[in-house]
Amino acid sequence: MADNCIFCKIAAGEIPSRTIYEDEAFRVILDLGPATRGHALILPKKHAANLFELPEEDAKNVLLVAKKVAANMKEKLGMDGLNLVQNNGEVAGQTVMHFHMHLIPRYQKDGEMVLWTPTEPSAEELDAVKEQLS
Ligand code: 5GP
Ligand code: ZN
Repeated sequence: MADNCIFCKIAAGEIPSRTIYEDEAFRVILDLGPATRGHALILPKKHAANLFELPEEDAKNVLLVAKKVAANMKEKLGMDGLNLVQNNGEVAGQTVMHFHMHLIPRYQKDGEMVLWTPTEPSAEELDAVKEQLS
């Protein structure tokens, strides 16, 4: 556990939370400032600040947890869609520096969110990025 990490304390059960799923490695809690009804956070029990620090085992399993919780939400909440959101670093909007994945149920007419403005790069720029990353 990292010192003074609120999500470590929540994941360990030291601070109470509205837990909707738990296994050996993860706790899934309701977000206290939900974007929509049912907004939940998957927390690994082992501290990692972000995706870059997340152990491979947790990285592999986090999507399986998301899938399980999402199926339960779909059955019980009557939602129309779902966003998975995972922020890394302040510049990306991360405010709690313990890895977490958001599950945000979406409902018809719940307003716009998780959107960006598409840009129009040249083919050369896309080629350059492809070269840089492959
Ligand atoms: P981030 O912006 O880091 O991706 O998301 C942090 C999320 O954690 C926010 O949606 C915020 O509402 C939620 N949050 C912050 N502190 C607490 C807390 O103590 N308990 C719960 N359940 N959610 C929290
Ligand atoms: Zn932590």
